[in-house]
Amino acid sequence: MNVIDSRPYELLIGERWRAGAQGRTFDTLNPATGRVLAQVHEATEADVDAAVLAAHEAYQAHWRKTTPAERGRLLRRLAALFERDREKIAWVETLNVGKPITHSLDSLKAMPSSLEYFAGIIPAVRGETIPVGNHNVLNFTIREPLGVCALIMPWNYPMTLTVNKLGPALAAGNTVILKPSEVTPLSTMVLARLFEEAGFPPGVVNVVNGPGSTVGERLVTHPLVSRVSFTGGTVTGSRIVASTAADVKRVTLELGGKSPLIVFEDAPLEQAVAVAAGDLIKNSGQVCIACTRLLVQESIKREFLDRVQERLDAIRIGSPEDPATEMGPLVSAAQKQRVEKYIRIASEEGARPVQYGSLSGVVETGFFVKPTLLMDSQARMQSAQDEIFGPVQSVISFRDEDEALRIANDSRYGLAAVLFTRDGGRALRMARGIQSGSVAINTGVRTSFDAPFGGYKQSGIGKERGLEAIYENTQLKNVKYDMSV
Ligand code: NAD
Repeated sequence: MNVIDSRPYELLIGERWRAGAQGRTFDTLNPATGRVLAQVHEATEADVDAAVLAAHEAYQAHWRKTTPAERGRLLRRLAALFERDREKIAWVETLNVGKPITHSLDSLKAMPSSLEYFAGIIPAVRGETIPVGNHNVLNFTIREPLGVCALIMPWNYPMTLTVNKLGPALAAGNTVILKPSEVTPLSTMVLARLFEEAGFPPGVVNVVNGPGSTVGERLVTHPLVSRVSFTGGTVTGSRIVASTAADVKRVTLELGGKSPLIVFEDAPLEQAVAVAAGDLIKNSGQVCIACTRLLVQESIKREFLDRVQERLDAIRIGSPEDPATEMGPLVSAAQKQRVEKYIRIASEEGARPVQYGSLSGVVETGFFVKPTLLMDSQARMQSAQDEIFGPVQSVISFRDEDEALRIANDSRYGLAAVLFTRDGGRALRMARGIQSGSVAINTGVRTSFDAPFGGYKQSGIGKERGLEAIYENTQLKNVKYDMSV
């Protein structure tokens, strides 16, 4: 399937597809080969201003006055078009992100349902009446949209993250500017072509491409942007908080993680092995909720690790385009260098890196790294504390429940945690004690569009997805009316 344009991808601003004001383009690569895949027009600050203005005008002129039924109809139409083009979008992600095609297809399967879900919960954008103690006073709330929202994405799951931000933002009555990662912009550009066909008025959704330091920074500091929804690294998130502080903007941050997978001696081992190995290789470990600290009770450590290693030895690393491939490359040369640097650091601080699988079938210029377990890690090692964002897990042993909980919480992150045990009481004690936004018991963490998701500690602020996403995308007004006058 030929899914990549030979002409540079343009920006979507208001009703027009256009080149950046200075006519500059940048390359985006195929990580499996390291070669240029396509060119993309780069927005200037003036282009960002134009996109924000288009979104603002669309919001003021008509979008904020649309009925729930109108917004619902457009979102459902977009869902149908997404389903029609899902395979194409999946191939674009595979070529641009390096995800195995089976994984791209699988991760996009729920996207039409996500859009339909947010179309369906538009009626939740409503207020209530409050009995305030004065019979003559009618006190009620109105839930209102925020206006122009900037939705800023990272490179690891461009499409699922975009759709899960876009649905609730539009459902709540906001207009948006999408800012894909400059590393993986292509799938968003394919999605962007569907807005007009779905019937969205010009300006309701705009797309700008380019570096975070110019395009992203201009977007988040623009006075007409009232909400920033950002998914990316914690350092960038912290910078966005600082940049938006002066204007006191609404900010939702979905940031990094270093999630623990805790395996007790009474664990259903088969499932625990599948989740441990699966998290290591899925999207080459470039998953924010991936469990990258493997906490194993001492008494079963040998058996558990033998089984994980058996699985990893059989891993098929190769071209993301091959349906038999289980693990592809990392997204970029920079990410590959980062992962290799952390494997060296782990070794220097006393852990024992062991690698699995074979790279014999891969293109040499691709950004491949073998899945790696850092055996004999300690909780306080830098390699066990920093987010590496690659196919690397620190293996740490523990003696009992108290120690497991202490190690699990010994992190500046708090995105997710997974635990395996057949002891229901222990599972619930741990679930309550763990400081993270998601906990999965006897299964892996898999986010879904209809359940709230967000981090504790330095993993983020606010919740996206589920009903909470509507609250995040709206503001509440309290109105008081004295009926005796
Ligand atoms: P990143 O922070 O480098 O970039 C993310 C986005 O922010 C990009 O679009 C970038 O252009 C933009 N950006 C950079 N500087 C900016 C600025 N000053 N102002 C505005 N925008 C700016 O992250 P990344 O390397 O693309 O993605 C990897 C990170 O994303 C990892 O830390 C991972 O954990 C995190 N992530 C988190 C979640 C979650 O839901 N919590 C999901 C996926 C990825």
